[in-house]
Amino acid sequence: MMKTLLNIFAVTCLGLTALVGCGGDDAATDGVEPAPVDAQDGVSSENPEIEVSLAKLSAEDRALAEKQADCVVGGDALGSMGMPIKLDLDGTPVFICCEGCRDSAIENKDEILANLVKE
Ligand SMILES: [Zn+2]
Repeated sequence: MMKTLLNIFAVTCLGLTALVGCGGDDAATDGVEPAPVDAQDGVSSENPEIEVSLAKLSAEDRALAEKQADCVVGGDALGSMGMPIKLDLDGTPVFICCEGCRDSAIENKDEILANLVKE
């Protein structure tokens, strides 16, 4: 009796497999995609773009840039405009976010260095 039932089940399953597939895993492969994480950041500390930019620096520079965090001129997050630019202000390594800040940084180096010491 039991064997008969199992046989019937097996046959049914095989029959279905031939028609539509026993597992029916068509539904699992399409339609479900992970939603893209599009974080609109106002106050970002974990921005993947910044991560990528900072990763282009040497380990030593990266540590310094992460410590400084923001551009000394514009206050933008270092890495938000691409790889931060390292300046040497009277022997102190200072990072700016982009070339546009270079002149201001050199012009105002005394002020910038004073601010860095304060922090
Ligand atoms: Zn800047």
